[in-house]
Amino acid sequence: MPSAQTYLTLSPDCSLRLLEEPCIYDRARDELYELDTEAKHLIECLPLRSDSRQAQDTDKEFLRFCLEEGLLLHSPECRPRKRPRQSPLPSLRYLLLHITTRCNLRCAHCFLGDVESVDLTVNDIRRVMGEFDELQGLRLLVSGGEPLLHPEFWEINDLFERYSFRTVLLSNGTALADPGIVRRLRAHEVQLSLDGVGPSHDALRGAGSFQKTLEALENLADTDIDLSVATMVHAGNISDFEALEKIVRSAGVKEWNIDVPSPAGRWRGKGALMADMREVGSILNRSFGGGVHHDERSDWACGAHLCAVMADGSICKCGLYADSPCGTVSEGLEMGWRNVRRVRLNELRCDCELIDECRGGCRYRAEVAGDRFGKDPVMCAANGLLR
Ligand code: SF4
Ligand code: SF4
Repeated sequence: MPSAQTYLTLSPDCSLRLLEEPCIYDRARDELYELDTEAKHLIECLPLRSDSRQAQDTDKEFLRFCLEEGLLLHSPECRPRKRPRQSPLPSLRYLLLHITTRCNLRCAHCFLGDVESVDLTVNDIRRVMGEFDELQGLRLLVSGGEPLLHPEFWEINDLFERYSFRTVLLSNGTALADPGIVRRLRAHEVQLSLDGVGPSHDALRGAGSFQKTLEALENLADTDIDLSVATMVHAGNISDFEALEKIVRSAGVKEWNIDVPSPAGRWRGKGALMADMREVGSILNRSFGGGVHHDERSDWACGAHLCAVMADGSICKCGLYADSPCGTVSEGLEMGWRNVRRVRLNELRCDCELIDECRGGCRYRAEVAGDRFGKDPVMCAANGLLR
């Protein structure tokens, strides 16, 4: 009996991404694999009959690696894939999509401040997702407000797996204390906010919210959705980080992002709640994961590969720049991305040896301190450069 015909093809979670360098992106594992010219050519030719001359002549080591890593597989089906286009340069890899301003909490450090309820329409969300995919996007960060409070959230949830990018849902976790809601989620990753242990979390986010976040962590740990945590350092949680790290690690969290709130929205004028910056440096170093998203070769300061779409349909450098949009959803994501006001690393007035790692910190904080090209005082203090 002749054996059945198979085709060498990309695995369902993998796609060819034409960024600064051609890559295979595995959205399930959130990994990027850079390709040389020959490897790119092979991937562009997929699917290929497994017994074809080209498949047989392919560098055996490369092929074995891709099959072992699960990037390629032999499939009985021959499903042609759309050829990707080259990304803009710099590439737009991460998109913060604020689908609503609605929220059930009133966190003291919310950068949105007190705003009216606005929702991005499902049509606009679909349009932005399609354009982000075309532009070779990697991670869609679905945020709010609290994104689960969008009136059509479940319709939006159904879109999460349709494209080639990874979808990360950023939530305050309160709704995810309900296991029934967690089971319906289609996101590849959920990022929960955890700003302290018990009272120090609740002081910022409201009574009872810490307990709900713990329940959400437990519910998510029972699923195959990847879990990440974002924590803001403030005066009330500075001594909580050992306990926080235990919680985060025992929940199997893949990535822990620790940052300092920016002087925007409700946090403006809350200097008394800020942590002592001299203590912040060692705390920020507890962050882990996310290595694939640190592009050391980039020439740009913060946000080299990121922009934001706000709930009113405006496009901006990030949520902190909501007051100075660079485009709108109706004009198109690509135009908005091309209009982002960026700062090159060599334009910064930073004079320290940490520049490759710190990259001048946050441009918004530098601008609030008086100079768009200046130093980020938070990062300078955290790195022991300000006394
Ligand atoms: S920080 Fe997040 S959870 Fe808190 S009020 Fe703002 S949007 Fe809601
Ligand atoms: S620590 Fe300060 S001076 Fe050094 S790169 Fe960061 S912001 Fe610039």
